[in-house]
Amino acid sequence: MVHIRTQREIDLITASCQIVADTLEFISEDVKPGAMLIDIDSKAEKYIRSQGARPAFKGYMGFPATLCVSVDDEVVHGIPSTRVLEEGQIVGIDCGAEKEGYYGDHARTFAVGNISEEKKQLMDITQESLSKGIAKAIPGNYVSDIGHAIQSFVEKFGYSVVRELVGHGIGTNLHEEPQIPNYGKPSQGYKLREGMCIAIEPMINEGVKEIKTDTDGWTVRTLDGANSAHFEHTIAITKNGPIILSRGTSNGG
Ligand code: MG
Ligand code: MG
Repeated sequence: MVHIRTQREIDLITASCQIVADTLEFISEDVKPGAMLIDIDSKAEKYIRSQGARPAFKGYMGFPATLCVSVDDEVVHGIPSTRVLEEGQIVGIDCGAEKEGYYGDHARTFAVGNISEEKKQLMDITQESLSKGIAKAIPGNYVSDIGHAIQSFVEKFGYSVVRELVGHGIGTNLHEEPQIPNYGKPSQGYKLREGMCIAIEPMINEGVKEIKTDTDGWTVRTLDGANSAHFEHTIAITKNGPIILSRGTSNGG
């Protein structure tokens, strides 16, 4: 079922979202050449717990870490390991937190040191596609208007949209109805209503849209080995338009 949230509930979701946004801002200084992924993950976990919250991904369907960390051709769901970041990589970091029973979910793709123009453009266009999707999240529009805005924008640059993984409703669970695909024709699916809270999260590939999952059962990567970027915000749909909840208190990201 699709939940319509009260203002009190939106405030609670906002609190969790801000913790997540602050977490990503806090660890952003560590996303640099030589950094070990498990160290970034444990710093994120400590910060979330210091805020009276719980890492929402850890233990979720057996996922072993606080962050999903996905480098270059990895699309999403990468497991932090002893791998060390290298200059020129791009790394998607996805984070969720739960506090007082309400969830926040947010992701950004970071540059590791200096990156190529190609990677910079992929990141910028993916982030801009998220903004274009969010702009369509208004009462009376349909779920597919969001995905249509994202897909039609990124395909102009020759990029492709991952089909198998989608955004989602969020609130008292990390993943709720409705699903929010990042592609589609306009005016289809569920009609958006005031009080809905959703996570919009385009996963955009430089090459083909197809993906594969590693033998670890989690890491999703592009089938052709080309780079991929991921940005995500949790938003509330209000009569005054979409409100981004995952902004953070320092307004990072
Ligand atoms: Mg996420
Ligand atoms: Mg999500």
